[in-house]
Amino acid sequence: MNEIGMNALDRLCDIVGGDAVLVDDATLLRFSGDMTENREALPDAVVRVRSLPQLQSVVLLAAQHRIPLVPRVAGTNLGGLTIPTHGGWVLDLTGMDRIVELNVEDMVAIIEPGVTFAQMREALAKTQPRLCIGYPLSPPETSVAANCLLEGLGNLSLRHGSMGDWVNGLEVVRADGSLLRTGSGALGVPVPFGRAPLPDLTSLFLSWQGTTGIVSKLAVQLWPELPFRERCFVLTYDRAAAFRALCELPRLDLLQDMGGLSWPTAKMLFGVERPLERDPAEPEFFFYLDLSAATEELFRAKRLALREYVHRLQKDGLRVEQPIDVPSLVRIEPRLGELAEFPTRLGFFLDHPYGGLTWVGTYGPMSRFVAACEHGIEIIERYGFPPTIVARPMKGGHFAVLRFIEVFQRDSPEHVARVRACNAELLEALLGHGYIVYKTPQWAVEHYRPKLDPGYVRLLKELRALLDPDHVMNPGRWEL
Ligand SMILES: Cc1cc2nc3c(=O)[nH]c(=O)nc-3n(C[C@H](O)[C@H](O)[C@H](O)COP(=O)(O)OP(=O)(O)OC[C@H]3O[C@@H](n4cnc5c(N)ncnc54)[C@H](O)[C@@H]3O)c2cc1C
Repeated sequence: MNEIGMNALDRLCDIVGGDAVLVDDATLLRFSGDMTENREALPDAVVRVRSLPQLQSVVLLAAQHRIPLVPRVAGTNLGGLTIPTHGGWVLDLTGMDRIVELNVEDMVAIIEPGVTFAQMREALAKTQPRLCIGYPLSPPETSVAANCLLEGLGNLSLRHGSMGDWVNGLEVVRADGSLLRTGSGALGVPVPFGRAPLPDLTSLFLSWQGTTGIVSKLAVQLWPELPFRERCFVLTYDRAAAFRALCELPRLDLLQDMGGLSWPTAKMLFGVERPLERDPAEPEFFFYLDLSAATEELFRAKRLALREYVHRLQKDGLRVEQPIDVPSLVRIEPRLGELAEFPTRLGFFLDHPYGGLTWVGTYGPMSRFVAACEHGIEIIERYGFPPTIVARPMKGGHFAVLRFIEVFQRDSPEHVARVRACNAELLEALLGHGYIVYKTPQWAVEHYRPKLDPGYVRLLKELRALLDPDHVMNPGRWEL
């Protein structure tokens, strides 16, 4: 590190305290990569930021010295988005973990970026049990705000769309250390109730991966936790049944959530480390379905309607079983408990001995789901990976999630090369069906670059230059 860098580090210690600036080899290594195939890069320091004044001063200091900044909470985005490709400082925001407000009347929470899904669940259960938030399948220690900022998805996304849609407003530290409030917060109204009717500046920070500013507070919508609810599984033995249910069920408006997982996930759940072949007697897809209602009568009616729907599929000759409620299943097979309650920790993805986990996760049109999925299965199998798929309808069926997951050996150059080639082919094929990668890794941005609308590229570059003139905000992301 040069003299300027050393001076900056001294100033940094004055701001956050010497114990919050980590430069030891083990820490730098830990923050240099993630579980994916994306290339590692060492930061110059990891900085534990605990408050807004600290965050503003650190950003200002970095701006003065042109030091790259990478905001990070748990680093589980699976797109290499917190790898410090240009060195600099990784800002560990896990300590900014205040739930500033849980507003039951207006159904909104104001949170700092370090607030985790586990923390949110506990706080809601303790103080506002009539409200809930959507949970992704990501580990409980991941950030609620980060998933909103990445426009991720959770178990209320069938009804309410991606979590980016739930953001009512933001408080953001800009690249010069100054502060900005978006949404209704821009007018300082007491409740951050939404983004309309002001020009929407919130979206300047959604899916931008920290390249336009660092969010210090986020107002996120909460939803009613209905008293009558049940999670059940539906097992399907052929794809046709699964695909049809995926497209049709959202339109019946019965379900609170619907997520489909393909057979390799079930095998991994049952302890098979590398499932390669499906026994034809085993289900090809299983869906977890959440039913909920405000009254018992309505709940029973929805349950009945669901059974009737499945019966219709059966009458049409599709191989599908009637719903089985999760508590009964868990009594028979405790390992299914991992899917009974959210947030959950899918240990078979995180703790397997090969160390690597990656995906091509996309959003796309429901009408093209079947073709996109079939095409993706052909590709992933050709590369020797089992077709590990997460599928779900979003926002009442307005679009779909299609995610192909690969578990791989991170220390094997052959595996890494195969994953890269497979993901590149998946991305191109899925795009051909209208499916676009979310939490876009830089390798995907490079594929999209020649295809993007020139006007879009121009404005994106202009905005980026305006909001980050020194190009220090999470550089290496959305480079066009
Ligand atoms: C097994 C597994 C399952 C998963 N399932 C799902 C799923 O079902 N749905 C889903 O949506 N995701 C899923 N994920 C992805 C991921 O876990 C979630 O997106 C999670 O919420 C990200 O939180 P994080 O704390 O890891 O964010 P990080 O990875 O730390 O950060 C994510 C991005 O946000 C930026 N960022 C962080 N803080 C700020 C800030 N304050 N201001 C500006 N930018 C910031 C970072 O620079 C980075 O670009 C899964 C991941 C795993 C490993």
